[in-house]
Amino acid sequence: MYENEGGFGGRRGGFSGGRGFDRGPREMSKAVCTECGAECEVPFKPTEGKPVYCRDCWQKKRGF
Ligand SMILES: [Zn+2]
Repeated sequence: MYENEGGFGGRRGGFSGGRGFDRGPREMSKAVCTECGAECEVPFKPTEGKPVYCRDCWQKKRGF
């Protein structure tokens, strides 16, 4: 007889975690920075009419 029945027993196999987020390369789109006009690549599709910032300008915008 087992005393603790219905517990969380059976920890075999367990968690084989480690499913990262690295699913291949990210889709990069070429864009032109609205701020300085430099060519840059963004990990999203630039929307027309919306400003796109290169890394430098992005950091400036964020107040670094
Ligand atoms: Zn820029």
